[in-house]
Amino acid sequence: MNMERDVEVEMQELRKTFKSGITKEEGWRRSQLQNLLSLLVEKEDHIFQALEQDLGKHPVESFRDEVGPLIKSVNFALKCLKKWMAPKKADLPAAAFPSSAELVPEPLGVVLIISSWNFPFGISLEPLIGAIASGNAVVLKPSELAPASSSTLATLIHTYLDTSAIRVVEGGVAVGERLLRQKWDKIFFTGSSAVARAVMTAAAANLTPVGLELGGKCPALIDYSLSSSWDREVALDRILAAKFGTCAGQACIGIDYILVDRRFSDTLIQLLKAKILKMFGENPKESKTIAKIVNKSHFSRLSRLFDDPMVRDSVVLGGLMDEDNLYIEPTLLLDPPLDAQIMTEEIFGPLLPIITLDNIEESIDFINARPKALAIYAFTNNKKLKQKLSTQTSSGSIVINDAIIQYIGDCVPFGGVGESGFGRYHGKYSFDMFSHEKAIIKRSFLIDFWFRYPPWNHQKLQL
Ligand code: NAD
Repeated sequence: MNMERDVEVEMQELRKTFKSGITKEEGWRRSQLQNLLSLLVEKEDHIFQALEQDLGKHPVESFRDEVGPLIKSVNFALKCLKKWMAPKKADLPAAAFPSSAELVPEPLGVVLIISSWNFPFGISLEPLIGAIASGNAVVLKPSELAPASSSTLATLIHTYLDTSAIRVVEGGVAVGERLLRQKWDKIFFTGSSAVARAVMTAAAANLTPVGLELGGKCPALIDYSLSSSWDREVALDRILAAKFGTCAGQACIGIDYILVDRRFSDTLIQLLKAKILKMFGENPKESKTIAKIVNKSHFSRLSRLFDDPMVRDSVVLGGLMDEDNLYIEPTLLLDPPLDAQIMTEEIFGPLLPIITLDNIEESIDFINARPKALAIYAFTNNKKLKQKLSTQTSSGSIVINDAIIQYIGDCVPFGGVGESGFGRYHGKYSFDMFSHEKAIIKRSFLIDFWFRYPPWNHQKLQL
């Protein structure tokens, strides 16, 4: 979309396309999904290059977290499209006899997707798959903080998809604000809770429904009753890959901090140090395995977390910050003050506080005393602890003995609760996110009940 032109004119064009009915046709939806698949397969290298440029992501990480899951999701949508689009029969009460009802999913219209920079392809295209599958016209605004990815998305979408119905608008806050002033049929937003408030305020003016995918602090419990040393090894591999090996900790579902029984913290730190050395080498900066911090402003935000001397003193590994290269070493901290910013705000970087508790069961109260997380991770074989976590805490999801994998599920909803957002997507949930399930009820004239019509009298009440 050319922002020089009036956004309203562009919107009218998209509305015209939507009204023409073309996006509702199964054939159109299928062809766009197929084209998106071709884009991902044929332009994988362009995507890797953009992610390397913006975030220093290794192609393996880019495939694991972005291209791979997207290819899977498009294929799943193509496989299920007919079933998702099919009307569903529904029951009506005997009072409506003789009648029939069905639920027909219909697209909402022209929808806006605003995405974040940390998984610029995944976070933009995953909801786009749902919006296309459900037959909408779409405007996508990627984040300006990943400029190579944003322009790659704009070029590739323009080349591969139907631009009469699917457009990319590039830009920052001003462009986002301008877009929010339009009347959309849905706004799907991924980003910070501060901007989410602006999104909801703008949406309220037009009673536009919103889906908000936000962040927060995701805790990971490590229960040292893990039965075997193998379990512990695997648990630590998964934790480190989910923290330092996933966009250098700049991930909404990344592990923010660890909770562990005090008696095991020394052992845990020794094991983590050894594993970090194995995964990232003597000099992680040279390893090309850890992504970079997205920009100077986020780098400064992360360095400011160390302004507190008590936080600095809690560092047990790492702590090196190289602003010129936007690089921060994998860093472990032991028991930083709980009222320090590092423990009250989402970290979103390669700093991993380890918080010790007298007993791992205390983690339930610890978690419940804080805003609801997008995810809670627990590494444990303890059935009682698993049960307690599931029933006594609230979060977008709970993953036992792994982290991040909830993102790739087509049949499990992805989304937050409370301050981590609302609305859920991925797989059929993405289709539902951008659909209205319309009830169509058909009644016959065959039978009728005289007592349902006025005038009212007590005799009718007896029936
Ligand atoms: P952000 O809120 O700063 O920006 C998100 C998007 O909103 C960007 O495209 C930006 O240009 C746009 N924007 C910013 N100000 C705007 C305004 N006033 N009006 C309209 N649009 C505006 O967030 P970010 O820094 O890109 O992303 C980091 C946050 O996103 C973290 O909190 C993270 O946890 C969260 N996140 C959540 C998920 C999830 O799936 N739940 C995924 C990735 C990131």
